[in-house]
Amino acid sequence: MTSTPARLLIIGPQGSGKGTQGARIAQALGIPAVSTGDVFRANVSEGTELGLKVKAIIDAGDLVPDELTSEIVRDRLTQTDAAAGFLLDGYPRNLGQVRDLDAFLESRGEPLTAVIELTVPREESISRLSVRAAEQGRADDNAESIAKRLSIYESETAPILDVYRDRGIVDGVDGVGSFDEITERIAAALEARGITA
Ligand code: ADP
Repeated sequence: MTSTPARLLIIGPQGSGKGTQGARIAQALGIPAVSTGDVFRANVSEGTELGLKVKAIIDAGDLVPDELTSEIVRDRLTQTDAAAGFLLDGYPRNLGQVRDLDAFLESRGEPLTAVIELTVPREESISRLSVRAAEQGRADDNAESIAKRLSIYESETAPILDVYRDRGIVDGVDGVGSFDEITERIAAALEARGITA
């Protein structure tokens, strides 16, 4: 049996656990997890030129400009470890980024093969983020930034799901449960598409 290449996107509101689940799934499939938020945070903490450029934007809960974000993702996906597949987390986040990503992947003849939508009720997201704020002290996990990011998610990110739904590649996964249960649900959805380790 030939398996379907794992060119994946995980999408869900802040606090849905997509970072954790994305990393687990990527590891199980032997592909890199590419999180734009992680890339930006690493650059901020290392004080790189990129980090200096994006720090204020991230702390305020605003989106980094599309051209910059898309360029970073293209660079990352061109690296050899992403040749057999990848899992995107946090990108694309709006329709402009969907267009950028489509142009890049179509030029390589390698479209996304599955989009996992992690669903979590808003109140649950907010309470998980308050816990994360207390535990990790992320500068953007303050009430104002959280509210802004959730509303950007609802207005800009949710519509991109419609684009991918039209392509028949979206699997909705209930994001409430234990870490293991949720990983199992995602793995089962991918397996149904022929995406296996
Ligand atoms: P969260 O999902 O909790 O907002 P992320 O780690 O995904 O956390 O992103 C943190 C911040 O990094 C975002 O609020 C935004 O400023 C920036 N960022 C991450 N991904 C993108 C993206 N695709 N486009 C623009 N900005 C992004």
